[in-house]
Amino acid sequence: MNVSHEVAKQGVAIFGATGSIGVNTLDVIARHPDQFKVVALAAHRNVSQLKAQCVQFKPTFAALVDPTAARQLKEELAGLGLSTQVLSGAAALDELAGHPDVDCVMAAIVGAAGLSSTLTAARCGKRVLLANKESLVMSGDLFMQAVHEGGAQLIPIDSEHNAIFQCLPADGKPIDHSRKGVKRLLLTASGGPFLRKSVAELGAVTPDEACAHPRWKMGRKISVDSATMMNKGLELIEASLLFGLPASKIDVVVHPQSIVHSMVEYLDGSVLAQLGNPDMRTPIAYGLSWPDRVSAGVESLDLVRAGSLEFEAPDETRFPCLRLARQAAEAGRSYPAVLNAANEIAVDAFLNGRLGFMGIASLVEKILGVHTASQVETLEQVMAVDLWARSEAERELGRVRITACGAAV
Ligand code: NAD
Ligand code: MG
Repeated sequence: MNVSHEVAKQGVAIFGATGSIGVNTLDVIARHPDQFKVVALAAHRNVSQLKAQCVQFKPTFAALVDPTAARQLKEELAGLGLSTQVLSGAAALDELAGHPDVDCVMAAIVGAAGLSSTLTAARCGKRVLLANKESLVMSGDLFMQAVHEGGAQLIPIDSEHNAIFQCLPADGKPIDHSRKGVKRLLLTASGGPFLRKSVAELGAVTPDEACAHPRWKMGRKISVDSATMMNKGLELIEASLLFGLPASKIDVVVHPQSIVHSMVEYLDGSVLAQLGNPDMRTPIAYGLSWPDRVSAGVESLDLVRAGSLEFEAPDETRFPCLRLARQAAEAGRSYPAVLNAANEIAVDAFLNGRLGFMGIASLVEKILGVHTASQVETLEQVMAVDLWARSEAERELGRVRITACGAAV
């Protein structure tokens, strides 16, 4: 084995390895075994999928947060003669995020469960590939400060933010808060599967219909967020934090074809856009290889076949989550964390048949309405706000039966 060649490889840890982003990340890595080495794979409790990934990529570590699942994985890998060390519990994620063999962390756990490990990776100065937008939305400036103080390289993986990152000046810095010349950001939104539905029709949609996104194949939580457009709301907050611009300088434009992934408008009138087929392997490959580029297995964009690219204004009456997120972004402090936590509870309730589709926005609005703003300068403060909003939302769900069309009875 050529030792010097081995040293040059980037050690990658993938948190949320069994999810949509995790699988796409492994697909890109498999194309470049000379450049990337999988050091750690972590997920919640999917033994069979993580086992198959361990067999293929032979990571040094594998972690399952669920202890029973971790025990089973350990036995099965030992049975196969694999030397992968199996860890369990949420603390294992933090341990791996800061491990010296890990250069790059793919933060692709869904929801608040990803916060601690993503924050640890930032504090330990890793290259942080941020897919888990919820962790940034809830911790805000605290997270950006950890990136700064830890000397981390923060590269957005969300396709819109990765597009903006690509359209900003290539000055060798991933994120520059004092970047000059930017007038505004234009976040594109596909509009989700219900773009043309009326409020009455939206009241009757099912979880499976909400998860059938016309352009992107994603996990169920983000699919529902795309259907309510809360995803775009979370992305608005994400963009504001990542690029250091107020929400008033970030516009959302609906673009059903999902080919223009977002745009940056400069003071001189130039608008730079990043285009490509809707395939998450493009932003993932860019994050892994930045500032270079590697192939990602993505089909070439055929603009002639695409035919036309359309743009329209979002409708905040049918999709009130976008308005709620903008209000939370403008109010700042603990509001984004409350928005995120209430939304996680609401989406879960919708997916489990406890809440109608329009009830998601109603519940989030209700919790935001009863919240008294507080500071979120420490992880403990963030967690306390998150817990408060979750319990309030759960209490509200129990107290008020919300009908399929979202009206409280
Ligand atoms: P997914 O549901 O497909 O996968 C989620 C992953 O998180 C799984 O590996 C699961 O095991 C893990 N996980 C869930 N709960 C956990 C817990 N408590 N502890 C540890 N691990 C846990 O989701 P996804 O679509 O891959 O999305 C992941 C993240 O990336 C989300 O934050 C999402 O918003 C973001 N994102 C996804 C896409 C996409 O195209 N899928 C695009 C942009 C951003
Ligand atoms: Mg996105």
